[in-house]
Amino acid sequence: MRTVRTVEEVRAALAPRRKRGPVGLVPTMGAFHDGHLSLMRRARGDCATVVVSLFVNPAQFGPGEDLTAYPRDETRDAALAAELGMDILFAPPHEEVYPPGFDTSVAVHRLTEVLCGDPERRGPEHFTGVTTVVTKLFNMVGPDVAYFGQKDAQQAIVIRKLVRDLDIPVRIEILPTVREPDGLAMSSRNAYLAGEERECALALSRALRAADAAVASGRRDAAEVLMAARRELDAAGVEPEYLELRSAEDLSPAERVNGRTLLAVAARVGRARLIDNAVVGDE
Ligand code: AMP
Repeated sequence: MRTVRTVEEVRAALAPRRKRGPVGLVPTMGAFHDGHLSLMRRARGDCATVVVSLFVNPAQFGPGEDLTAYPRDETRDAALAAELGMDILFAPPHEEVYPPGFDTSVAVHRLTEVLCGDPERRGPEHFTGVTTVVTKLFNMVGPDVAYFGQKDAQQAIVIRKLVRDLDIPVRIEILPTVREPDGLAMSSRNAYLAGEERECALALSRALRAADAAVASGRRDAAEVLMAARRELDAAGVEPEYLELRSAEDLSPAERVNGRTLLAVAARVGRARLIDNAVVGDE
């Protein structure tokens, strides 16, 4: 595996490889866990060449967020990516992505104004930071396929919309959330959970399972399904930032669970802001 730092280098490394078959891109912010690795494995299976990008993108962090504390360990990440047979690690420095005078953003509207995008929460600016850097990564690398995780369900929906609206020639693959054996969704931010907080954090996945069980037992009314989830959060003393049922296609509010309905939850546990989700009522 080669580590490259500039757009010129990544393009030069890819040029002779493109004729061998599809180029896959796995965009990441590093601090790899099995969630990241599952995307890399799938990309390795699908593509002739796989690029993993590693860039902690300041534009998607709000002013009071954890940009400086965000876990970083490029040496470990590079070793894991190499072990999985990745071809290129693209780890650009800040100035390569945002040179002096950088003054452009790419925003998807509406979908970014709910859930995490609610102005009272992370706000739409978070997603604008994501869609701007993802557009840049697509332009820098020119992948045929790009891999994202269902763990960030809203991000996945927003990126699909970005690609459709701007006719970006890339196929988007969304892969299932990878969990710890006890159900906790893997996240780089789980590193912030100290002592008993780890136990509290389990309430999120437990809430999703309770809602799923309510649906399986025939409940369809959103309020009833949410109540089942809410009970688990309350029992652990976790106050959700949001707990909502929305269409898994376009994030419109769901009054009833029918077809593909997304149950999304966000909560702060200690220093960590955690998100998780499940698609319920999948028939
Ligand atoms: P991040 O480094 O947190 O920006 O994540 C990079 C990619 O990995 C994103 O597409 C995430 O959705 C995905 N990802 C993060 N956590 C998980 C997980 N537990 N399971 C599957 N994919 C994940």
